[in-house]
Amino acid sequence: MGKSFDALVAHLRDIEHLNTAQALLGWDQQVLMPAGGAESRAATLSTLARMSHEKFTSAETERLLDDATAEINDLPYESHEASLVRVVRQDYEQQTKIPSEVVAEQSRLTSLAQGVWANARAKNDYASFAPMLRQIFDNTRRIADYLGYSEHPYDALLNMFERGMRASQVKQIFDAHRQPLVKLVAAITEPTRAARVDDSLLHQPYDVDKQREFALSIIRAFGFDFNRGRQDVSVHPFAQSFSNSDVRITTRFYPDFLNPALFGMMHEAGHGMYEQGVSDEVDALPLIGEGTSLGVHESQSRMWENIVGRSKGFWSWALPQLQAAFPQQVGKVDLDSFYKAINKVQRSFIRVEADEATYNLHIMLRFELEMDMVAGKIDFDKLPQAWNERFEAYLGVTPPTNALGVLQDIHWSAGLIGYFATYALGNMLAAQYYRKAIVDRPSIPSDIANGKFDTLRTWLNENIHQHGRKFTSDELTRRITGEGIQSKYYMQYLEQKYGEIYGL
Ligand code: ZN
Repeated sequence: MGKSFDALVAHLRDIEHLNTAQALLGWDQQVLMPAGGAESRAATLSTLARMSHEKFTSAETERLLDDATAEINDLPYESHEASLVRVVRQDYEQQTKIPSEVVAEQSRLTSLAQGVWANARAKNDYASFAPMLRQIFDNTRRIADYLGYSEHPYDALLNMFERGMRASQVKQIFDAHRQPLVKLVAAITEPTRAARVDDSLLHQPYDVDKQREFALSIIRAFGFDFNRGRQDVSVHPFAQSFSNSDVRITTRFYPDFLNPALFGMMHEAGHGMYEQGVSDEVDALPLIGEGTSLGVHESQSRMWENIVGRSKGFWSWALPQLQAAFPQQVGKVDLDSFYKAINKVQRSFIRVEADEATYNLHIMLRFELEMDMVAGKIDFDKLPQAWNERFEAYLGVTPPTNALGVLQDIHWSAGLIGYFATYALGNMLAAQYYRKAIVDRPSIPSDIANGKFDTLRTWLNENIHQHGRKFTSDELTRRITGEGIQSKYYMQYLEQKYGEIYGL
């Protein structure tokens, strides 16, 4: 490329290296660091964050962007160069709009709030958290006002996690999804139907080393590349990439419950394979060699965990292997009973434990409350009542305590407002992309049933992974499927799958 573009790349590469160092220290903090290292690690991370932020928000970045823009003017929208300049310009505008004292205030509030929240949850004492929560939402509203929006302040927040998406779009998608989903969950959880599924076989002693060995064999078969990745143990499972050739995932093991490690590893491998699948050309450019949005990222983890990993076809191939690893626990179980057990639907109170049928209801409730909280339409003292009323309406039960209700998630205390919606969008996108994948490559379901996963994985590589952050989720989804994000394909998937399991 020309001189100006190269100068921009060199400048941004330094920033990316600072970010990579932070990411690696963050990974180490969760995987290896002794507890005593917390204070010095926080200091190191804060220095790196400041250096990266100062360099990125400097006038030099703007000048280099302007020069490069003039130079690449004739290149097509899809070119790597035009995409880099476009995406980085958006990042730059976002990061320079918020005054540093507002950023500092948010950081002060959220670091205080996480301790207050953890205590409040432990003691089931919402009142002790409410004042802090109000302050965080006030400051977050200020941030939204600085970022700017055309319709609703929530747009500005959502845009940080799902670039280009507006709250009204999400609201429209959720409004179409809510009633059919409430109806489906009510039908499934009707007592005589619920009794059709027993998952006690999953709650038995399962040797942790054998769990790990089995789950690793599954994600190796999926195509997670251990030459360019690794798996470790952490309290909260996550995926982290430093480039497409170094991607780390983590797992949490329970000695008497099979699901968290097994399906958790499939989930994180889905995130990891997305990062490993970014093309070398895009990965070579700074700041765009990663997944494009939280929603698209979650579509990849959910697809491998649920659409593949909880399908009957997959287990027709995998169950004999699981039986060989755990003959006492599952040696005698038949495919049908096992398949039902791993797909049990429950009206549980906790989002992170929710199955794929109820999950999006947990999300809609949070999204609706967040929009009202950001708009100043909610009395924070009455938030638990608002939570519980919606929970009752959507899931037919009321949380017995606030710890099992409004206090359960860390997100609000961490200032992650505008984030929840992306989980539900991920579920929907997974079904929408998968539907197109099997139109393009009809052998995918039978290949999965034969333990052959590269038909699906290479389709994902070509259509989604390779592009990194070049396109927004909406652009990507329209390129692949010819339409924007829809809830109907996820609903069809749920109705067909659970209709069969629960005899609807
Ligand atoms: Zn995830």
